[in-house]
Amino acid sequence: MRKRISTFIAACLYYSGLITLARWWIRRSAHHLVILNYHQATGGDLRRHLLYLRRHYRILHLEAAMEELSMPSKHGKRVGDRRTPLVLTFDDGYYDNYTHGLALARELQMPFTIFLTPGYTESGDYFWWREGNRLVSHTQVGEATIEGRIYHLDRPKERNRLAEAILTRVCQATSVAERQEFLRVVRQALPVSPSVAPEEKPALPLKWAEVREMEESGWVSFGVHTMHHPILAYLTDPTEVQREVEECRTMLEQQLGHPVRTFAYPIGQLQHIGDNAIRAVQKAGYEWAFTTLYGFNTPRSDPHLLRRIEVDVSQHWLVMAAETAGFWGLFSRLRWISAMRKAPYRENKALHPPSKILEGCDPKPLRP
Ligand SMILES: [Zn+2]
Repeated sequence: MRKRISTFIAACLYYSGLITLARWWIRRSAHHLVILNYHQATGGDLRRHLLYLRRHYRILHLEAAMEELSMPSKHGKRVGDRRTPLVLTFDDGYYDNYTHGLALARELQMPFTIFLTPGYTESGDYFWWREGNRLVSHTQVGEATIEGRIYHLDRPKERNRLAEAILTRVCQATSVAERQEFLRVVRQALPVSPSVAPEEKPALPLKWAEVREMEESGWVSFGVHTMHHPILAYLTDPTEVQREVEECRTMLEQQLGHPVRTFAYPIGQLQHIGDNAIRAVQKAGYEWAFTTLYGFNTPRSDPHLLRRIEVDVSQHWLVMAAETAGFWGLFSRLRWISAMRKAPYRENKALHPPSKILEGCDPKPLRP
C-alpha cells in the first residue's frame, strides 16, 4: 500500500512538471553532485531507472565526479552538457551487479562504482544479514534451541520470531568474531543443504575473477565497504574499527593492482557510523568517504561525510526520479522529525528494530 501511495505521489510530481522544475533548480545552483546508492541490480527494472537517469543527468565515474566537485574552478568553464552530474554506486558487492549491472553498464554506456566487502568476496559466505533468514527458511528441523530458547519451527510465527531474534543478535554484535561465533552456532542448530538454489545466486557476494573482469571493462570501479560489514558504531574495540577500515583496502588493492581511494560506511547513517569510524577513515587516508545521509554534495561538503540518495531497483522509476530530484528528502525529513519527537534514537534503541536498521543496508525486509 505504502509503495502504491509513493508511486502515486511521485507520478503527480512528475506529470505536474514539478520534478522537471526541481531538476532545473538543482542545475542552476552550480556545482551540485548527486550520488545514488543501490544494492542489488535485480528484483526490479534497473534498465528503466538507468534510461531515465541517462536522459536527465550527466553520468560520471565516481572519482572523476569527486575531482570535478573538489576543483570546481578547473571544471567551471565546462561548456556543452550542463546537466547535473550524477554518480551510480552499488553497496556490498552482490553477484547480480556482475550478471545484470555490468551488462547494462556496457549497453547503456553508464559507469558505476561498487563498494565491495572483501571479506565476503574472499569467503563466498552469505552476507550476515541474509544468513539467519535463509537458515530459518530452509532448515528441515522441527525444533531448535538458540541461546537457551526453544523454537518450534512447524509454527510460522515461531519461525518469524527466530529469524528476527537471529537478526537482532547479529546486528548488535560488538565484534566480528562474536557475530561469526553466533552464526556458527546457528548453522549447527539449523542445518541446511549446502547447495545454492538458483534464486539465491543473485544475492551472493561477487568473486574476485568477476571483480577483475568488471574493472577491466572500464565501466565499473571499486571502493571498499569494510572487510566484514560490521555496524561500526557497535564495535567496542577502536582497533577493530581501524582494522575493518584498513584491511579491506589492502586486500582490494592487492587484487586490482592500484590504489583504492574511496570508502562507504556500512549502514551509513551517523548513529551507525560513530565517531571512531570517521576518525579511522581519516587516519587511513581515504580521500572520500560516503554515508547514506540524504542530500546533494557541493564543494563545501565534508569529504569524509559525503551524502548519497538511497534508491532501490524494486522502486518504480517515478519514485526514484522524485527522490533523485530532492523531493523525497522533504518527506523523509518530515518522517524523521516526527519520529525524533516521539523517541530520540539514543534514548531508546529498541525503537529501531534490526529490520529497520538494515533498511540502510538491505532495503528488502528480511522475512522467512
Ligand atoms: Zn552495505
